[in-house]
Amino acid sequence: MKIRSVTMRLVASPLKVPFTTHLQQVSTREALILEVMDTDGRIGYGEADPFSSPWYSEETIQTCRYVLREFLIPILLHVPIKHPEELEQRWSAVRGNRMAKSGLDQAVWDLYAKQMNTYLGKLFGGRKAEVDAGAVITAATSEQAIRQIEPLLKKGYKRYKIKISRENDRPLLEGIRTAFPDLPIMADANSAYTIRDKDHLQKLDRYRLMMIEQPLAYNDLSEHAILQKNLATPICLDESISSYAAAASAVMLQSAKVVALKMGRVGGWTQAARIHKLCLQHSIPLWCGGMIEFGIAKAHNLALATLPGFTLPGDFYASDHYWTCDLISPKITVDHGVISVPKDRPGIGFSIDHDALAHLTCDVQSFVHR
Ligand SMILES: [Mg+2]
Repeated sequence: MKIRSVTMRLVASPLKVPFTTHLQQVSTREALILEVMDTDGRIGYGEADPFSSPWYSEETIQTCRYVLREFLIPILLHVPIKHPEELEQRWSAVRGNRMAKSGLDQAVWDLYAKQMNTYLGKLFGGRKAEVDAGAVITAATSEQAIRQIEPLLKKGYKRYKIKISRENDRPLLEGIRTAFPDLPIMADANSAYTIRDKDHLQKLDRYRLMMIEQPLAYNDLSEHAILQKNLATPICLDESISSYAAAASAVMLQSAKVVALKMGRVGGWTQAARIHKLCLQHSIPLWCGGMIEFGIAKAHNLALATLPGFTLPGDFYASDHYWTCDLISPKITVDHGVISVPKDRPGIGFSIDHDALAHLTCDVQSFVHR
């Protein structure tokens, strides 16, 4: 692929509305933007999206910077690759660190698709012209939740994911269900429960949730399998799907009926595509999860969501929901609950807003092939 250089930027921006779960409140978002340039001057873009502290995953912005700078970028620049699928093997000496790998993997795939003059999603069999948008509601009370839902309904969002905890789950879901009897709602617990809460969780079946996401520990598969046998509501695994191997174990154990796939968490496109294929083979519906990402990662997610197994609305917001200044052009918009896919443009299909990128950049490091 004749890669000449890699640039890594640390960007940061306040969120227009804070993102709150029972684990953490995020009000400023950092990310790492990876730019991979070939000898013809084409640039592929990727985005690594760990949080600033390890509340969601073991990786953080600083661990990713370190692993990218010391290992992943030097390996990429040292030995030429013919195809992005070779990256997994090249990086096999680096265990885990999947969010760091994903940022650079995305940039190489974007570059490759641009070299092929093809939309990135098409390289993996994606055919959709538009992708359904789903919203995430982070509210302490049902009154607050209803106030968040109402303006999103006008934009047509197709699914409403309610962040719940052991303390507020029933009053929150009861209030929302009463106000909106037919709204497609699901709950995301971010591991707020243990298997000892089985009877309590069974009581949530009455709210007719599309699914309950990650009720038990972030790295568990076996107790989720036990819980699923005792719930009418489908379980969706999010945090537990950390790799293809984890997804294969989840399928074998029947730990979930739905999978939320986050490209960042599994290490990038190659792993994500393998998990997608596995889920298709086992008729497990997928949706594309979000990480409060900037537009570059969102553009990659949008391309991923064009694949045929993504039959449920993912965490897709318009750019202006969280950002006063997003990194891509045009901005992502939600119209009648869908986002148009730029499938006739190469790579991720969006241009980079270089003014916005410069404005949000806090630090830049460049690496050149020698
Ligand atoms: Mg989740």
